[in-house]
Amino acid sequence: MRVFKFGGASVRDAEGIRNIGRIIGQTDDTLMVVVSAMGKTTNALEGLTRALCGYDLTGFDELYDQVVSTGELQSTRIVSAYLNHCGIANEWVDITRLMVTDYTYRQANVDTDLTRRQLNAYLKTHPSRVYVTQGFIAGTPDGRRTTLGREGSDYTAALLANLLNAESVTLWKDVPGVMSADPLQDSNAHLLPQLTYDETEQILKGGAQIIHPKTIAPLREKNIPLYVKPFLHPEAEGTVIKD
Ligand code: ASP
Ligand code: MG
Repeated sequence: MRVFKFGGASVRDAEGIRNIGRIIGQTDDTLMVVVSAMGKTTNALEGLTRALCGYDLTGFDELYDQVVSTGELQSTRIVSAYLNHCGIANEWVDITRLMVTDYTYRQANVDTDLTRRQLNAYLKTHPSRVYVTQGFIAGTPDGRRTTLGREGSDYTAALLANLLNAESVTLWKDVPGVMSADPLQDSNAHLLPQLTYDETEQILKGGAQIIHPKTIAPLREKNIPLYVKPFLHPEAEGTVIKD
């Protein structure tokens, strides 16, 4: 099993979704495909929630998670339907029923033991080569939706890889890989083809926003390599992060 994660930029329009079909069509591995909400959908849903509660979210955290989580439910339905349309049979997985958290809305904590058991039971009863599921969102034991913190889809991908003992995780991004500096600010910025988990954590501590900071720990624990690759050039080497 490999884990592929596609962020908002990669699913922002129809061409983006076709491109995901091409990337998945090029592999015959078993895949858990984690998808974010389309483009800036999460920001829009966040704005909607703020408007609903008079621009003060205090006390409305549960409502926030119920509204904002619809972005990923929608994008994954579209990706799953499109893959079926291209002949890539897949299972659409409602991660809010499998990834169990506490009631800390907007920043929920995952119960990893329970989630591992639920995931394995689900995969046994729903055999497929390709699974399509949501990043960033999860659920409480009684079925309320929670979220794991903004930009949390990378973390979802790493956690799923850890719990499923995946071979690797690939984050498909709109950049060539991890760069030595921000290419918009530094014309000498170059691609870093290989990094260790430690080096990556240093880069993230320094403020680089390329990967969610909670992504590294679950991968390091199981020694799972992390590839960061450009979704527009899937054949490019990108960056590999491993020990
Ligand atoms: N869609 C969520 C967000 O924008 C999660 C993610 O993109 O990783 O925060
Ligand atoms: Mg995003």
